Amino acid sequence: MIGADVPYAASLLKAGKLVAIPTETVYGLAANALDEKAVQAIYLAKGRPQFNPLIIHTNSIERLQEWGLKVPEQAIKLANAFSPGPISFVIPTSNAIPEIVTAGHAFVAVRIPNHPVCLELLSMLPFPLAAPSANKSGCISPTTAQHVADQFGTQIPYILDGGACHIGLESSIVSFANTNPQLLRLGGLAKESIEKVLDCELSISHIQNNENPQSPGLLSRHYAPQTPLLLDLDLEVNQLGNMHQLGCIRFQHLHPDIPPENQYILSEMGSLDEAAQHLFMAMRLADSRNFKYLLAEIFPAHGLGLAINDRLKRASIQL
Ligand code: AMP
Ligand code: MG
Repeated sequence: MIGADVPYAASLLKAGKLVAIPTETVYGLAANALDEKAVQAIYLAKGRPQFNPLIIHTNSIERLQEWGLKVPEQAIKLANAFSPGPISFVIPTSNAIPEIVTAGHAFVAVRIPNHPVCLELLSMLPFPLAAPSANKSGCISPTTAQHVADQFGTQIPYILDGGACHIGLESSIVSFANTNPQLLRLGGLAKESIEKVLDCELSISHIQNNENPQSPGLLSRHYAPQTPLLLDLDLEVNQLGNMHQLGCIRFQHLHPDIPPENQYILSEMGSLDEAAQHLFMAMRLADSRNFKYLLAEIFPAHGLGLAINDRLKRASIQL
Protein backbone atom coordinates (compact mmCIF):
# COMPACT_ATOMS: atom_id res chain seq x y z
CA MET A 1 0.00 0.00 0.00
CA ILE A 2 1.21 3.53 -0.81
CA GLY A 3 0.48 6.23 1.79
CA ALA A 4 1.84 9.24 3.63
CA ASP A 5 1.28 8.09 7.24
CA VAL A 6 4.64 8.56 8.98
CA PRO A 7 3.56 7.23 12.45
CA TYR A 8 2.14 4.12 10.76
CA ALA A 9 5.43 3.58 8.89
CA ALA A 10 7.27 3.96 12.21
CA SER A 11 5.03 1.40 13.92
CA LEU A 12 5.64 -1.16 11.15
CA LEU A 13 9.41 -0.63 11.37
CA LYS A 14 9.28 -1.03 15.17
CA ALA A 15 7.49 -4.34 14.60
CA GLY A 16 10.37 -5.58 12.43
CA LYS A 17 8.59 -5.06 9.09
CA LEU A 18 9.87 -3.62 5.81
CA VAL A 19 8.82 -0.14 4.69
CA ALA A 20 9.85 1.63 1.47
CA ILE A 21 10.98 5.16 2.32
CA PRO A 22 11.48 8.34 0.32
CA THR A 23 14.89 9.99 0.32
CA GLU A 24 16.34 12.75 -1.84
CA THR A 25 18.52 10.24 -3.75
CA VAL A 26 16.27 7.24 -4.54
CA TYR A 27 13.57 5.32 -2.62
CA GLY A 28 14.96 2.92 -0.01
CA LEU A 29 13.74 -0.45 1.24
CA ALA A 30 14.09 0.01 4.98
CA ALA A 31 14.19 -2.15 8.11
CA ASN A 32 15.47 -1.81 11.68
CA ALA A 33 19.24 -2.05 11.18
CA LEU A 34 19.70 -3.56 14.65
CA ASP A 35 17.26 -6.42 14.00
CA GLU A 36 19.02 -9.20 12.09
CA LYS A 37 15.79 -10.87 11.02
CA ALA A 38 14.29 -7.65 9.71
CA VAL A 39 17.49 -6.96 7.72
CA GLN A 40 17.42 -10.49 6.33
CA ALA A 41 13.98 -9.71 4.89
CA ILE A 42 15.53 -6.85 2.84
CA TYR A 43 17.98 -9.23 1.19
CA LEU A 44 15.20 -11.72 0.46
CA ALA A 45 12.80 -9.16 -1.00
CA LYS A 46 15.48 -7.64 -3.25
CA GLY A 47 17.15 -10.90 -4.22
CA ARG A 48 20.32 -9.13 -3.10
CA PRO A 49 23.53 -11.13 -2.71
CA GLN A 50 24.43 -11.44 0.97
CA PHE A 51 27.95 -10.09 0.35
CA ASN A 52 26.55 -6.68 -0.63
CA PRO A 53 26.46 -4.55 2.55
CA LEU A 54 23.77 -1.99 3.40
CA ILE A 55 23.90 1.70 4.27
CA ILE A 56 22.38 2.67 7.62
CA HIS A 57 20.38 5.88 7.96
CA THR A 58 19.55 8.14 10.86
CA ASN A 59 18.53 11.77 11.33
CA SER A 60 21.79 13.26 12.64
CA ILE A 61 25.50 12.46 12.68
CA GLU A 62 25.52 12.96 16.46
CA ARG A 63 23.01 10.14 16.93
CA LEU A 64 25.47 7.59 15.56
CA GLN A 65 27.14 7.49 18.99
CA GLU A 66 23.92 6.00 20.41
CA TRP A 67 24.97 2.82 18.61
CA GLY A 68 28.65 3.00 19.56
CA LEU A 69 29.79 4.43 16.22
CA LYS A 70 32.72 6.87 16.16
CA VAL A 71 32.90 9.14 13.15
CA PRO A 72 36.45 9.95 11.92
CA GLU A 73 37.41 13.63 11.91
CA GLN A 74 37.49 13.98 8.14
CA ALA A 75 34.05 12.40 7.87
CA ILE A 76 32.77 14.94 10.42
CA LYS A 77 34.19 17.67 8.20
CA LEU A 78 32.23 16.31 5.24
CA ALA A 79 29.12 15.80 7.36
CA ASN A 80 29.27 19.41 8.55
CA ALA A 81 29.34 20.51 4.93
CA PHE A 82 26.91 18.06 3.34
CA SER A 83 24.77 16.13 5.85
CA PRO A 84 21.86 15.73 5.68
CA GLY A 85 22.61 15.05 2.02
CA PRO A 86 23.48 12.60 -0.76
CA ILE A 87 26.74 11.36 0.77
CA SER A 88 27.49 8.15 2.72
CA PHE A 89 30.52 7.53 4.90
CA VAL A 90 32.17 4.16 5.42
CA ILE A 91 33.44 4.21 9.03
CA PRO A 92 34.49 1.60 11.64
CA THR A 93 31.50 -0.48 12.72
CA SER A 94 30.45 -1.27 16.32
CA ASN A 95 29.13 -4.26 18.28
CA ALA A 96 25.59 -2.88 18.00
CA ILE A 97 25.52 -3.31 14.22
CA PRO A 98 24.74 -6.88 13.13
CA GLU A 99 27.19 -8.51 10.72
CA ILE A 100 24.46 -8.97 8.15
CA VAL A 101 24.39 -5.17 7.67
CA THR A 102 28.12 -4.90 6.94
CA ALA A 103 28.45 -8.27 5.17
CA GLY A 104 31.05 -9.11 7.81
CA HIS A 105 33.25 -6.08 7.08
CA ALA A 106 34.87 -4.13 9.91
CA PHE A 107 33.30 -0.99 8.44
CA VAL A 108 29.73 0.23 8.10
CA ALA A 109 28.26 2.77 5.67
CA VAL A 110 26.19 5.59 7.25
CA ARG A 111 24.10 8.40 5.78
CA ILE A 112 21.83 11.22 6.91
CA PRO A 113 19.26 11.58 4.11
CA ASN A 114 17.97 15.04 3.27
CA HIS A 115 14.25 14.49 2.92
CA PRO A 116 11.72 16.02 5.35
CA VAL A 117 9.42 12.97 5.50
CA CYS A 118 12.34 10.60 5.93
CA LEU A 119 13.93 12.78 8.63
CA GLU A 120 10.62 12.93 10.49
CA LEU A 121 10.38 9.14 10.36
CA LEU A 122 13.99 8.65 11.51
CA SER A 123 13.48 11.04 14.43
CA MET A 124 10.63 8.80 15.68
CA LEU A 125 12.78 5.66 15.73
CA PRO A 126 15.12 4.45 18.48
CA PHE A 127 17.22 2.59 15.88
CA PRO A 128 18.87 3.39 12.52
CA LEU A 129 17.36 2.07 9.29
CA ALA A 130 19.24 -0.23 6.96
CA ALA A 131 18.05 0.74 3.51
CA PRO A 132 19.36 -0.18 0.08
CA SER A 133 17.55 1.13 -2.98
CA ALA A 134 13.98 -0.23 -3.22
CA ASN A 135 14.42 -2.22 -6.41
CA LYS A 136 15.14 -5.86 -7.20
CA SER A 137 18.88 -6.45 -7.25
CA GLY A 138 20.53 -5.24 -10.46
CA CYS A 139 17.50 -3.25 -11.67
CA ILE A 140 17.05 0.51 -12.03
CA SER A 141 16.65 2.40 -8.74
CA PRO A 142 13.17 3.85 -8.04
CA THR A 143 12.65 7.60 -7.88
CA THR A 144 8.89 7.58 -7.14
CA ALA A 145 6.64 5.57 -4.79
CA GLN A 146 4.86 4.16 -7.83
CA HIS A 147 8.13 2.69 -9.19
CA VAL A 148 8.46 0.77 -5.92
CA ALA A 149 4.84 -0.44 -6.09
CA ASP A 150 5.32 -1.51 -9.73
CA GLN A 151 8.15 -3.81 -8.75
CA PHE A 152 7.15 -5.07 -5.30
CA GLY A 153 3.34 -4.89 -5.31
CA THR A 154 2.06 -6.30 -2.02
CA GLN A 155 5.42 -7.87 -1.17
CA ILE A 156 6.18 -4.97 1.18
CA PRO A 157 3.56 -3.86 3.70
CA TYR A 158 3.88 -0.10 3.21
CA ILE A 159 5.41 2.41 0.79
CA LEU A 160 5.80 5.83 2.38
CA ASP A 161 5.23 8.40 -0.34
CA GLY A 162 7.40 11.50 -0.21
CA GLY A 163 7.06 12.56 -3.85
CA ALA A 164 9.65 12.29 -6.62
CA CYS A 165 13.28 12.18 -5.48
CA HIS A 166 14.94 15.48 -6.28
CA ILE A 167 18.53 14.21 -6.63
CA GLY A 168 17.60 11.00 -8.47
CA LEU A 169 20.98 9.22 -8.15
CA GLU A 170 22.22 7.07 -5.27
CA SER A 171 24.51 8.71 -2.70
CA SER A 172 28.21 9.28 -3.24
CA ILE A 173 30.13 6.91 -0.94
CA VAL A 174 33.38 7.99 0.72
CA SER A 175 35.37 5.37 2.59
CA PHE A 176 37.52 6.08 5.62
CA ALA A 177 38.70 2.47 5.84
CA ASN A 178 42.25 3.38 4.76
CA THR A 179 44.66 6.20 5.58
CA ASN A 180 43.45 8.25 2.64
CA PRO A 181 39.74 8.70 2.00
CA GLN A 182 38.54 6.94 -1.14
CA LEU A 183 35.49 7.46 -3.31
CA LEU A 184 33.78 4.06 -3.52
CA ARG A 185 30.81 5.19 -5.58
CA LEU A 186 30.15 8.29 -7.66
CA GLY A 187 26.73 9.59 -6.73
CA GLY A 188 24.44 12.50 -6.04
CA LEU A 189 27.14 14.77 -4.62
CA ALA A 190 29.75 15.95 -7.13
CA LYS A 191 33.28 14.60 -6.65
CA GLU A 192 34.67 18.14 -6.92
CA SER A 193 32.51 19.34 -4.01
CA ILE A 194 33.77 16.54 -1.75
CA GLU A 195 37.39 17.17 -2.75
CA LYS A 196 37.09 20.86 -2.02
CA VAL A 197 36.09 20.21 1.60
CA LEU A 198 38.70 17.47 2.13
CA ASP A 199 41.28 19.62 0.34
CA CYS A 200 42.65 16.62 -1.55
CA GLU A 201 42.01 14.70 -4.74
CA LEU A 202 40.00 11.51 -4.22
CA SER A 203 40.93 8.25 -5.84
CA ILE A 204 37.98 6.33 -7.27
CA SER A 205 37.76 2.66 -6.42
CA HIS A 206 37.69 0.58 -9.59
CA ILE A 207 37.12 -2.72 -7.89
CA GLN A 208 34.75 -4.79 -9.94
CA ASN A 209 35.24 -8.32 -8.67
CA ASN A 210 32.04 -10.13 -7.85
CA GLU A 211 33.36 -12.16 -4.92
CA ASN A 212 33.81 -9.81 -2.02
CA PRO A 213 33.80 -6.33 -3.51
CA GLN A 214 34.57 -3.38 -1.28
CA SER A 215 31.63 -1.58 -2.77
CA PRO A 216 29.27 -3.91 -4.60
CA GLY A 217 27.33 -1.03 -6.10
CA LEU A 218 30.37 -1.10 -8.37
CA LEU A 219 29.57 -4.48 -9.91
CA SER A 220 30.25 -4.12 -13.61
CA ARG A 221 26.63 -4.67 -14.64
CA HIS A 222 24.07 -2.93 -12.48
CA TYR A 223 21.23 -0.42 -12.76
CA ALA A 224 20.21 -2.16 -15.96
CA PRO A 225 17.09 -1.85 -18.15
CA GLN A 226 15.75 -4.91 -20.03
CA THR A 227 16.34 -3.25 -23.41
CA PRO A 228 19.98 -3.53 -24.51
CA LEU A 229 21.52 -0.11 -23.91
CA LEU A 230 24.42 1.05 -26.03
CA LEU A 231 26.65 3.85 -24.90
CA ASP A 232 27.32 6.20 -27.78
CA LEU A 233 30.71 5.14 -29.03
CA ASP A 234 30.55 6.78 -32.45
CA LEU A 235 28.08 4.13 -33.51
CA GLU A 236 26.61 4.28 -36.97
CA VAL A 237 22.95 4.23 -35.99
CA ASN A 238 21.85 3.07 -39.43
CA GLN A 239 23.70 -0.19 -38.82
CA LEU A 240 21.34 -0.93 -35.95
CA GLY A 241 18.28 -1.47 -38.13
CA ASN A 242 15.06 0.49 -38.38
CA MET A 243 15.32 3.96 -36.74
CA HIS A 244 11.79 3.54 -35.39
CA GLN A 245 13.03 0.66 -33.24
CA LEU A 246 15.69 2.78 -31.56
CA GLY A 247 15.25 4.81 -28.39
CA CYS A 248 17.57 7.50 -27.18
CA ILE A 249 18.63 9.02 -23.85
CA ARG A 250 20.39 12.33 -24.36
CA PHE A 251 21.55 15.34 -22.39
CA GLN A 252 20.26 18.44 -24.16
CA HIS A 253 19.72 17.94 -27.89
CA LEU A 254 17.84 15.50 -30.10
CA HIS A 255 19.70 12.92 -32.16
CA PRO A 256 19.24 14.04 -35.76
CA ASP A 257 18.48 10.57 -37.22
CA ILE A 258 16.07 9.09 -34.66
CA PRO A 259 12.35 9.96 -34.39
CA PRO A 260 11.94 12.70 -31.74
CA GLU A 261 9.12 10.77 -29.99
CA ASN A 262 11.64 7.99 -29.26
CA GLN A 263 14.00 10.34 -27.49
CA TYR A 264 14.37 11.33 -23.85
CA ILE A 265 16.14 14.63 -23.25
CA LEU A 266 17.31 14.85 -19.63
CA SER A 267 17.82 18.61 -19.42
CA GLU A 268 16.89 21.04 -22.16
CA MET A 269 18.67 23.83 -20.30
CA GLY A 270 21.85 21.75 -20.02
CA SER A 271 21.94 21.26 -16.25
CA LEU A 272 23.74 18.09 -15.13
CA ASP A 273 21.86 18.19 -11.80
CA GLU A 274 18.53 18.19 -13.63
CA ALA A 275 19.77 15.46 -15.97
CA ALA A 276 20.70 13.29 -12.96
CA GLN A 277 17.26 13.80 -11.48
CA HIS A 278 15.62 12.56 -14.70
CA LEU A 279 18.02 9.75 -15.63
CA PHE A 280 16.38 6.72 -13.96
CA MET A 281 12.87 7.88 -14.85
CA ALA A 282 13.92 8.20 -18.51
CA MET A 283 15.57 4.76 -18.42
CA ARG A 284 12.33 3.26 -17.11
CA LEU A 285 10.12 5.04 -19.63
CA ALA A 286 12.40 4.18 -22.53
CA ASP A 287 12.63 0.57 -21.33
CA SER A 288 8.82 0.23 -21.36
CA ARG A 289 8.66 1.09 -25.09
CA ASN A 290 10.16 -2.22 -26.24
CA PHE A 291 12.77 -0.66 -28.48
CA LYS A 292 15.32 -2.95 -30.09
CA TYR A 293 18.13 -0.83 -28.68
CA LEU A 294 18.50 2.17 -26.42
CA LEU A 295 21.29 4.57 -27.30
CA ALA A 296 22.68 6.86 -24.64
CA GLU A 297 25.18 9.61 -25.16
CA ILE A 298 28.19 10.19 -22.96
CA PHE A 299 27.64 13.17 -20.67
CA PRO A 300 30.16 15.95 -19.89
CA ALA A 301 32.74 14.51 -17.49
CA HIS A 302 32.35 16.90 -14.55
CA GLY A 303 29.92 17.44 -11.67
CA LEU A 304 27.10 14.89 -11.70
CA GLY A 305 28.00 14.04 -15.31
CA LEU A 306 30.62 11.63 -13.91
CA ALA A 307 27.99 9.74 -11.91
CA ILE A 308 25.55 9.75 -14.85
CA ASN A 309 28.23 8.24 -17.11
CA ASP A 310 29.04 5.68 -14.43
CA ARG A 311 25.40 4.51 -14.26
CA LEU A 312 25.02 4.48 -18.04
CA LYS A 313 28.19 2.43 -18.38
CA ARG A 314 26.99 -0.15 -15.87
CA ALA A 315 23.59 -0.27 -17.58
CA SER A 316 25.11 -0.78 -21.02
CA ILE A 317 26.13 -3.75 -23.12
CA GLN A 318 28.74 -3.95 -25.83
CA LEU A 319 27.85 -5.13 -29.30
P1 AMP B 1 22.44 0.58 -2.35
O1 AMP B 1 21.90 1.03 -1.05
O2 AMP B 1 21.65 -0.49 -3.02
O3 AMP B 1 22.73 1.73 -3.26
O4 AMP B 1 23.83 -0.10 -2.03
C1 AMP B 1 24.63 0.32 -0.97
C2 AMP B 1 26.06 0.30 -1.39
O5 AMP B 1 26.83 0.89 -0.36
C3 AMP B 1 26.64 -1.08 -1.53
O6 AMP B 1 26.41 -1.62 -2.79
C4 AMP B 1 28.11 -0.81 -1.31
O7 AMP B 1 28.66 -0.37 -2.53
C5 AMP B 1 28.14 0.35 -0.35
N1 AMP B 1 28.44 -0.09 1.02
C6 AMP B 1 27.55 -0.32 1.99
N2 AMP B 1 28.17 -0.71 3.13
C7 AMP B 1 29.47 -0.73 2.85
C8 AMP B 1 30.64 -1.09 3.62
N3 AMP B 1 30.56 -1.49 4.88
N4 AMP B 1 31.83 -1.02 3.01
C9 AMP B 1 31.90 -0.60 1.72
N5 AMP B 1 30.85 -0.27 0.95
C10 AMP B 1 29.65 -0.33 1.51
MG1 MG C 1 20.92 -0.23 -5.24
